[in-house]
Formats: sequence, structure tokens, C-alpha cells
Amino acid sequence: MNALQDVIVLGGGPAGAATAARLAITGIRVALVERPGPASVRIGESLPPAAWARVVALGAAARFLSDRHLETPGTVACWETETPAAHDYLYTPPGRGWHLDRRRFDRMLRKTAVAAGARVIRARPLDIESRSNGFWTLRVRGRDGAMERVSGRLVVDATGRSSWFARRQGMRRSRLDRLVALAGLVPTPATADPRLLVEAAPWGWSYCVPQPSGGLAAVCLMDADDPWRGSTLASTWRSRIGSTPHVAARAGELAPTCVRLLSAATERLMQFAGHGWLAVGDAAFSRDPLSSGGIAGALEMASLAAESIGSWFQGSCRAAAEYASALEDQWSRYLAEQRVQYGAVDRWPTELFWLRRRGAMTSRSPAPASDRR
Ligand SMILES: Cc1cc2nc3c(=O)[nH]c(=O)nc-3n(C[C@H](O)[C@H](O)[C@H](O)COP(=O)(O)OP(=O)(O)OC[C@H]3O[C@@H](n4cnc5c(N)ncnc54)[C@H](O)[C@@H]3O)c2cc1C
Repeated sequence: MNALQDVIVLGGGPAGAATAARLAITGIRVALVERPGPASVRIGESLPPAAWARVVALGAAARFLSDRHLETPGTVACWETETPAAHDYLYTPPGRGWHLDRRRFDRMLRKTAVAAGARVIRARPLDIESRSNGFWTLRVRGRDGAMERVSGRLVVDATGRSSWFARRQGMRRSRLDRLVALAGLVPTPATADPRLLVEAAPWGWSYCVPQPSGGLAAVCLMDADDPWRGSTLASTWRSRIGSTPHVAARAGELAPTCVRLLSAATERLMQFAGHGWLAVGDAAFSRDPLSSGGIAGALEMASLAAESIGSWFQGSCRAAAEYASALEDQWSRYLAEQRVQYGAVDRWPTELFWLRRRGAMTSRSPAPASDRR
């Protein structure tokens, strides 16, 4: 069977689901292709108040609130100095943020897309079979192993850091740093303080947030070539979390149920759009978690992408270029904010992690991601 669509969106995370919802609302026929199987576990992700307007704009506010993510009144940071500085959300509408259950959040966005008229296809893309008469045809394999063809005039790559489709168009991802995250879940933390806590250290930084399903996510961020390599993930996590006293105090006994290693590097595609395709969310560029801005950024890109695709269907030949230029602006804003955030720490002027951030913040020549160790 060949499902003929106007747009194929690959990837059902926040970027893909929100793009599909926005397109479907305007009457565009859209298929959202999401890999079958359980979603990968994601812990320690928060939505700051500034992102609320994006959820409202999607018409997803009621669904979001009924999912009972954990509310938080603000953040605490031991950043410029070791003394904790509190930041209250009270004066930032809507006056609160949320620690997310990512599985529920992503599922809620996909339901929003379906309610708007998108078709969700639970399948793994196998390859791009052809592009003819202005239509892409992709072969996908469903959860029962059956193969299906999906055709559409445009493809939106929302496959996260893998940039599955863009890479097959010859696009490379370039990397500005080698940041990795070691994330652990502590089942019985020592405190119930709901606020995100961030703490800088000579080797990088760590943070912790309570989880809606219980427990506390404690995460350390460091460079991939830090001399910690060689010891086990759990022992590295324990020693790093243990060396940030405020995060360690919240975690209590450092006995995590699991520890996972994730890429947290700042990376981007060399080009955000091409003939008949564009990338949204982490597939376009991925941010340092320090920004807490990945999801809000993905939702903003979804809105820009839907606008641009709408203009393209109305015959604008500048739509893709305008989209790419809006993303270049978003990327520049992100880099400027990142420079300010890391530039505020001058407690360890000779430590490699901080030297790199301060040096890299001024030179910024992207290295191809294929150089990754
Ligand atoms: C340690 C860490 C902490 C973070 N904390 C925060 C935070 O507090 N706040 C915040 O806003 N952001 C945070 N982020 C960033 C955030 O996770 C991402 O920016 C966000 O998930 C991007 O959404 P996305 O939809 O672009 O990509 P993803 O969420 O990665 O979604 C991609 C989707 O595509 C699917 N997929 C992948 N490949 C294929 C394929 N070949 N075919 C079909 N489907 C495919 C996946 O199953 C997935 O559903 C954090 C990131 C890290 C690493």
C-alpha cells in the first residue's frame, strides 16, 4: 500500500509531532512516521515558563495540564559562586515551570497531531526509494514487519540528533564541543525541593530535578575526553555527583537505579533545508542542556516550519530559504546566550573544561561530527 501525503514528517518527538499538528490544522495532509517500540527513557528534562506560550499555541494546554507533570516555582544555581542563588518564576508568566515525564509529553503532542488530522504511522524508515514527479517515496517497516511505501511532496526531518533524512541528502552535522551527560536516577532522594538545581564544578557541572514518577534525576555534564574515561559509568557518576556538594546533598545516598551516558554536544546540520526537505528540532541543531531550551526551541522551529511549508504550497519559491534564515537567527541567539552563561564562571581559569568554553566561545569553528571519538 502506498500512503500518498502532502508532507511526511519523520520522528514523533516534540519537533515532529508539533510540526505535524500545525500542518494538519491548516488542512495539509501529513503522515507522522515514528519508530515502533518503547520510547527511549529520558530523565531530568524540564519546561521553563517561557515555553508555555508554545504549548498554548498548539491548542495543547488542557491536555498538557491533565498529564500532571511536576510543577516547579523556580530554579537554584551555584554558578558564578558556590553560594546558591535562587531564581523565582513568579514574575515570568505563567509563574511556574514543569519537570516533564517525557514519554507522556511526547505522546500528548502526537495525540494533538492526530486530533488535528495527521496520520501516525508506527514504522521505521528503511530507505528513500525515489524522488520522481515532485514526490519522495520512502520505504518503511511497521511493527508487524510489513513493508509500506509512503509518498509526499515534502519531507520534514525530525529524527533528533540522528538527522536520518538529512544525512541521506549528503548533509553533515558539525559539532562545536564534546559535551556528554551521565544521567542517574536516585529512587529515594534526601529532599522534596521541586526546584531545578544547577552547580558548577572544576570538571564541568551537574544538576538535579525531581521526577514526576518519583525519585530524583541527578546528571553530570563533562567533556567526552575527560580523564574519567575508563572507570565505570556508575562510579564516575558517583564521584562527580559527590564532588558537587549541593546536588549531592539533595540526592542523599548516591545509589542510582540506572546510569546512562548521552550526547549533550552542541551540534548543527551544515544546511537546515534543501530541495523538498527541511529539518526541525534536534535534527537541525542540538543545544547544550544548560539552556533548558531544546524543547521550546523545537516547538518554535515547528511553527516556523509549518509557516514555511504553507507558503511553499502556495507557490513561494523563497519559503525554504526564509526558513533556513530564521533557523540561522535562532542558532546565533542560542550561541550568544551560551557564551554569556559559560562566560559568567571564572572560578577555575586553568581547568580545561572552562578554558575550552571560554576559548571556544570566541572562535567557534565547527568540526564535523564524524570526528567524534
Ligand atoms: C541530558 C539532557 C538534558 C536535557 N534537558 C532538557 C531540558 O531540561 N529542557 C529542554 O527543553 N530540553 C532538554 N534537553 C534537550 C531535549 O531533549 C531535546 O532538545 C528535544 O528532545 C528535541 O526534540 P526533537 O523532537 O527534536 O528530538 P527527539 O526528542 O530526539 O525526538 C526524535 C524522535 O525521532 C524518532 N526517530 C529517531 N530516528 C528515527 C527514524 N530513523 N525514523 C523515525 N523516527 C525516528 C525518535 O524515536 C524520537 O521520537 C536535554 C537534552 C539532554 C541530552
